[in-house]
Amino acid sequence: MSASESDSVSRFRLKRTLEMLASKEGRGTELISLYVPPERRIHEVMANLREEYGTASNIKSRTTRKNVQEAIDRVSQRLKLFKEPPKNGLVIFCGAIPRNGAGTEKMETYVLEPPEPINVYFYRCDAKFHIEPLLAMARERDAYGVIVIDSSDAVVATVRGQRMEVLQQFSSGIPGKHRAGGQSARRFERIREQAMNDYFRRVGAHAFELLGKVQGLKGLIIGGPGPTKFDFVDGDYLNYMLKEKILATIDTSYVGERGVDEIISRSQDVLQGVRYLEEKKLVQKFLYEIGHETGLGVYGETEVRRYLNAGVVDLLLVSEKMNILHVYTRCKNCGAGDDALIPQANLVKFEQDLLAATCKKCNSAALYVEETGDLVDELIDIAEKQNAEVEVISTETDEGIMLKDSFGGIAAILRYKAS
Ligand SMILES: [Zn+2]
Repeated sequence: MSASESDSVSRFRLKRTLEMLASKEGRGTELISLYVPPERRIHEVMANLREEYGTASNIKSRTTRKNVQEAIDRVSQRLKLFKEPPKNGLVIFCGAIPRNGAGTEKMETYVLEPPEPINVYFYRCDAKFHIEPLLAMARERDAYGVIVIDSSDAVVATVRGQRMEVLQQFSSGIPGKHRAGGQSARRFERIREQAMNDYFRRVGAHAFELLGKVQGLKGLIIGGPGPTKFDFVDGDYLNYMLKEKILATIDTSYVGERGVDEIISRSQDVLQGVRYLEEKKLVQKFLYEIGHETGLGVYGETEVRRYLNAGVVDLLLVSEKMNILHVYTRCKNCGAGDDALIPQANLVKFEQDLLAATCKKCNSAALYVEETGDLVDELIDIAEKQNAEVEVISTETDEGIMLKDSFGGIAAILRYKAS
């Protein structure tokens, strides 16, 4: 995954891969899932796999035993290609997948480098591939700042998906609301106010310094029990650049890490809403170009592909709900190639029809599917080579539905008017 790849693209790609993996089912419990964290030594994993190979020799069913041992062999072969795990670790799925009933299994192997570090080592042999840890990574991954504050404690943290990182904790050192004996009430109030002021200032200054360093910070959420958080936000304690990023103020029962945890579980809707708003704006930008006939808005597979290849696309918009395959066929007899775009769901029927079809060139019934690829993936690849920005748009907004239904799910804004 390249560093320049937009977040919506990398999540889209991972989601697609996981959907594909989730659809695979083994004949028995013979599909292997292996998660290797970045700090694991490859030779240790190899040793573990040799043990699993030995254990597999106890499997009663001859076919299952053979399939599991063969899968372990394949995984070891793939693993050997790495001197050490990549930066975020490594995930390998391997197993015999039936095509068309018993006896038609074919060994399939998938090697994935996850977008976030893997925390635990695990090896599983099951009827399905274990994709749950990766599913969590496919969800929203933008970074958000969180400040949870009350009159005694505060915490500054960042949240990415379900992962939290506490950057700093503070305590105010401010005594409770009840003054010690002998102190005058007014003097006590004044001291308390002054201390609160200093505390807010301290949290505000550190928050700006810490969150200012976070790359691509999408927004800020403020939380805490009681009204202190509002005093903090309304007062002159937070830099205006952070204030502008405030997305929501959320009531929590706790401060500290538990408070941040509460924010994570309660802010999913807020965060999702931010992304939808972004998507609306992106599609509206395209609709503006179309509506004003500026010549900068283009749509449809043929048109967009042409402009992509010409290198004039500034922004490519693709609908998440596009499930179109680009199928390449070839003739066994004369070698002539052809291609077609078909809905994913029609692939089986397409293959059946192909058996009865004849070659355009030599007329013999010898056509077969040589390769299939995801159309959206293909367009994204071209866009990235041409340095065009890419955004994958959900169908959760009216604009997203319009992109899919009225514009064929593929649209682009050009850098300049081109013919
Ligand atoms: Zn032919």
